[in-house]
Amino acid sequence: MNPTAWTNADLHCHSCVSDGTLEPEVLAARAKANGVELWALTDHDEVSGQRRAREAAHALGLPYLSGAEISVTFAGVTVHIIGLGIDPESPALIQGLADTRDGRILRAQEMADGLAKVGIPDAFEGALNYAGNPELIARTHFARYLVETGYCASTHEVFRKYLVEGKPGYVEHRWARLGDAVNWITQSGGIAVIAHPGRYKFTVNEEYALFTEFKAHGGRGVEVVTGSHTSADFAKYADMAIEFDLLASRGSDFHSPEESRTDLGTLPVLPARLKPVWEALMDRVQRAA
Ligand code: AMP
Ligand code: MN
Ligand code: MN
Ligand code: MN
Repeated sequence: MNPTAWTNADLHCHSCVSDGTLEPEVLAARAKANGVELWALTDHDEVSGQRRAREAAHALGLPYLSGAEISVTFAGVTVHIIGLGIDPESPALIQGLADTRDGRILRAQEMADGLAKVGIPDAFEGALNYAGNPELIARTHFARYLVETGYCASTHEVFRKYLVEGKPGYVEHRWARLGDAVNWITQSGGIAVIAHPGRYKFTVNEEYALFTEFKAHGGRGVEVVTGSHTSADFAKYADMAIEFDLLASRGSDFHSPEESRTDLGTLPVLPARLKPVWEALMDRVQRAA
């Protein structure tokens, strides 16, 4: 098949190396079984699962792109920037991600202090038990612990009641700078993509500033079709991709069979009027030797 005709590209998901629940090899098999034709594992702030994902994809004959999802603070809001086709061995990228991970443990202890004040003890130790990688302890791990211990019925309920701004387990945190994250990605040979723009609570002006500054730093893509978007978001960000002349990406943001509404490889295809980001990454796609 002409690789540019790939429609079932899934370029966004998480393994237990960050806040997903499955091993990279299990995700690769799931992607393949679901008909994914081009796959990327994009763990938060971490590339240590990349080799396992790539080797598992090779063994299955599944074309693979390296990836990561970097946490950034922009206009006081946490924004995620995906790097696709990155070089996971790039020293600048590795150092940048290590710096971004720094402080997660301290933040988690403060989150646990906040939860203890409302009668939920030992949440730090509890969440840590769920973290495959302690440096990557995330709100998701707290959510799993609070579901397991019966405080809430679902991880979505935990976020709503405890883990978002204004709630007892929320701790403000400063992540990487937008321009730095874009540079780490670009300098390692990858393309930077704004993840799930429909999720951020920006005003129209702030969103415009995000897209404008992202482009000025060398960012080239935007996620249009993602598990975090409604169909109205698909249409809105398809228009924004064209307005800002950005390449379009597609990815489920799959974390776990129990928690994720969208499974790998099950989203609608990209609108035909968009330029798929993978067409610009053909030389970075890795296949079995
Ligand atoms: P952190 O990087 O520690 O702030 O954790 C962010 C992660 O929490 C995201 O990558 C999602 O996996 C998860 N998350 C954020 N908001 C929600 C929500 N409302 N419901 C479920 N999971 C969420
Ligand atoms: Mn996550
Ligand atoms: Mn994200
Ligand atoms: Mn994600």
